[in-house]
Amino acid sequence: MRVVILIIICALSISCADKYKDSENSPQDYQIIPKPLSLEVLKGRFLVDSNTKVTGTIALNNEGAYLAEMLTRASNITVPFEIGASGNIVLKLDESIENEEGYTVSVTYDQIFISGKTAQGVFYGIQTLRQLMPASIESETNQIEALTIPAVTIKDNPRFVYRGMHLDVARHFFPVDFVKKYIDLIAMHKMNTFHWHLTEDQGWRIEIKKYPKLTEVGAWRNGTIVGHHPGTENDQKRYGGFYTQEEIKDIVKYASDRHVTVIPEIELPGHSSAAIAGYPNLSCFPKERTVVTRGVMSDAGKVAQKNGTAKIVQETWGVFDDVYCAGKEETFSFLQDVLNEVIPLFPSKYIHIGGDECPKANWERCPDCQTRIKKEGLHNEHELQSYFITRIEKFLNSKGKDIIGWDEILEGGLAPNATVMSWRGTEGGIQAAKEHHDVVMTPGHSCYFDHYQTANKENEPLAIGGKTTVEDVYAYEPTPNEFSEEEAKYILGAQGNVWTEYMKTTDYVEYMILPRMSALSEVVWSSKKARNWNDFKNRLDVLRERYDALGLNYGEHTFNLENEGE
Ligand SMILES: [Zn+2]
Repeated sequence: MRVVILIIICALSISCADKYKDSENSPQDYQIIPKPLSLEVLKGRFLVDSNTKVTGTIALNNEGAYLAEMLTRASNITVPFEIGASGNIVLKLDESIENEEGYTVSVTYDQIFISGKTAQGVFYGIQTLRQLMPASIESETNQIEALTIPAVTIKDNPRFVYRGMHLDVARHFFPVDFVKKYIDLIAMHKMNTFHWHLTEDQGWRIEIKKYPKLTEVGAWRNGTIVGHHPGTENDQKRYGGFYTQEEIKDIVKYASDRHVTVIPEIELPGHSSAAIAGYPNLSCFPKERTVVTRGVMSDAGKVAQKNGTAKIVQETWGVFDDVYCAGKEETFSFLQDVLNEVIPLFPSKYIHIGGDECPKANWERCPDCQTRIKKEGLHNEHELQSYFITRIEKFLNSKGKDIIGWDEILEGGLAPNATVMSWRGTEGGIQAAKEHHDVVMTPGHSCYFDHYQTANKENEPLAIGGKTTVEDVYAYEPTPNEFSEEEAKYILGAQGNVWTEYMKTTDYVEYMILPRMSALSEVVWSSKKARNWNDFKNRLDVLRERYDALGLNYGEHTFNLENEGE
């Protein structure tokens, strides 16, 4: 009896699938961002039904479970993943694919194959499959009755190995759930790196067990300036938060399951007011009071300083003279202890050590720093910064990690194995590449998503300044034109930077990254010759439906903004 029922069910489902065998598909069915290398449109559609089963080897357990969960949610039918079984959706590793992150997707009316050189490639194949399905699959409450996927053959691989998004959680703090949502967006765009800016003047956001005051004191500021820097007044609201090491492990695992590498940034020697508030001896001048510009310090801050607490967590934005003392051994033992706790939390090959915007005013008048300069035979404070970075680099190299730093680390001589993140335009990146250092391009004009995204700033929420439209991002070319093939190899890729002085809420972060990160994803993934603004705009209109289904916040008016002339 059971056999008979099974046969009837099979017969029914085959006839259902057959219904889609010769379907004519429309170009709208194939709107994928970032654009794949090659895409061949075929006739027919694959129907997800009660016979659908995802299969693969144990090495693809994570990807299989991810896809099965996605299809179950999308189709409202339970789609299982089974290791080693036979099914009509097959995930496999394929050594013949050249690119480490490359993949192929083959959909016919009765079978789907997703192959990758690595599990990561298979994961990107799944992300492509996702965009072949209707946007409504993203909605928690979708009412899809017959989920079908258009037949296609896609061969694809990324252009750059580093495809990043940065998030500053120090100026404003964002909860674990949002960080995961951010990582999901990175993964959806086939980007592979999350640069997590964890320490700043205005807040220290990572639990360090050996130095509890970093978070007891350093994670909290007594208030924040109101309005654009330097601000009109102080909001007088205690503000802060931090991630426990357990939360960080959870986020790193979540990212790893989505093939996103998390690079932590521990800023040094500048942007260190929050750490100094917890441990004043790290400053050249522990007894000198923290200065909050133009008298916009909170009342609580003033009371604390009146009562003898010199150092407080910064309440305004900008660059501050009070930085780690480069003369005291105590500074280096502190930073090494901190890094000793950071390293095991992050499997990433890189640790970002900041290195930007470190004024030398305190070092110039600090006896300890001056003694260091003499003892080490340095010529000036720029070389002292280079000494600082190189010493930290040596330590991290000894632990099997490489450093990335902002392009100021070029000043006074670049640490031997450092990778440079070029943010003050592209010159730093060009210089570093010519010196045979790896480079990640993040120039302000194209990759700073804290800039206004239209010229009509009056109608926009407060931002730091600038103007970077979605087309500006799309037009960006990370490899300088004048580079030889050999030099071009040092350009690892590019990254969107999201500094959050003025982004107080998660909604606002979404507003600022969308659709600019979608444009950047194509810059770093797709081939240079495939990039076409009008074609991208059409695909972006389709992706926007996915943003809607995901409940993401964005400004509709920002989508079609072209370089309307300054
Ligand atoms: Zn000093």
